[in-house]
Amino acid sequence: MALKICPDFLKYVKKPKTVVTVTGTNGKTTTTNMITDALEISGYKVLSNRLGGNIASGIATCLMSGVSLFNRCRYAIAVLEVDERSSLRIYPYVRPDYAICTNLARDSCRRNAHPHYIFDIIDRALPDSTTMILNADDIISSALKKDNDRVYFAIDRQPDDRSEPFNIINDMRICPNCQETLEYEYVRYNHIGAVRCPKCGLRSPEADFRVKNIDRENALITVWDGEKDSDYPMVSESIFNIYNELTVITFLKTFGVEEESIKKALASVSIVSSRFHSETVCGYNVISTMAKGWIAPACSVVFDFISGLPGKKELVMILEDTEDNITSSENLCYMYDTDFEFLNKPDIENIVVVGVRAKDFLLRLLLAGVDRGRVHCSETVEGMIQYLKLSRGTDVHIIYDLHQMEAYARIRNAVIDRIKEVAGE
Ligand SMILES: [Zn+2]
Repeated sequence: MALKICPDFLKYVKKPKTVVTVTGTNGKTTTTNMITDALEISGYKVLSNRLGGNIASGIATCLMSGVSLFNRCRYAIAVLEVDERSSLRIYPYVRPDYAICTNLARDSCRRNAHPHYIFDIIDRALPDSTTMILNADDIISSALKKDNDRVYFAIDRQPDDRSEPFNIINDMRICPNCQETLEYEYVRYNHIGAVRCPKCGLRSPEADFRVKNIDRENALITVWDGEKDSDYPMVSESIFNIYNELTVITFLKTFGVEEESIKKALASVSIVSSRFHSETVCGYNVISTMAKGWIAPACSVVFDFISGLPGKKELVMILEDTEDNITSSENLCYMYDTDFEFLNKPDIENIVVVGVRAKDFLLRLLLAGVDRGRVHCSETVEGMIQYLKLSRGTDVHIIYDLHQMEAYARIRNAVIDRIKEVAGE
């Protein structure tokens, strides 16, 4: 309403003395929440849009909730998650003191076009006075606002990193200066890793904060801050969340929060994992994993993770984000950016694809080399049950799209009922 009455409302609403914004393709919500929690634990009164929207209207609502009737701001600091595509409508008015970009990678192409397009709008919209907090392992976003003050973070080479790009998607294959093919010192996923150009000498930036060691056994990460190593409690085991945690540490130390306060805050922060759920039914492991359909890197990560698990597997997938063929988009290009090749493994014995576009998934799986006899299609949840094999000792994985919670619940119930039937209970 405020934006309707006054389109440049964001310019006039009073902001806290310090404004921090968090943007990027992956991890911005987790990072925003962790920074807000940590600052609150350290005694700051924080204004945050954690429960609201991250586009202009959400930012307006959040800032408005922070002022009195006479436009006096009641907070010292704001931590705002900003949608990448809304940059031009937000940054010219909100003018952050610190802008954090977690990473930029290919997202849904029908919404975000291309990461270099997103880079361009963020780069144009941010003021020259903003201090940038950037990921040195991402050769794309690390180049944002190249003349601004900046602090970089990175994770040192880890044992499971690879030396050649292995995903279908790599948004940074050639040098932006001289167009030579880039070489990777190591690749973590997609284009995330350390890059060098053999011709002009372009390199990933030197990081100011580096994770040197990840100790999953004792749940600790060792961070080098330019002067010394310090151990921090590990908030989550996944590499994506270790990046998020490192981003939080980098910002808080740059902002001047005491190290002991940061450790205390991180020890009490928790990341809710609604994306992974494992249960045992009559001796069968049923594992559910949420994937963001339409977003190739997100699906590839899930496929890579599942294919790397030990033991025989049976997969039930619903990756369509809609259940009827009227609202289903015909734009299927993301499927060809997704590494279905990870599913071409002998221990993945059966794949049942559910949804109105099940046959498109079948075609994609065949192109990935998966044996035709191992794939079954069903347009409906009910029709899926007949294709379940449920051989003893095989884990059942259900992979579902974020927008298919209701269909997922029906699939899970049907799988559990069928297991009970097979087990004679
Ligand atoms: Zn070059």
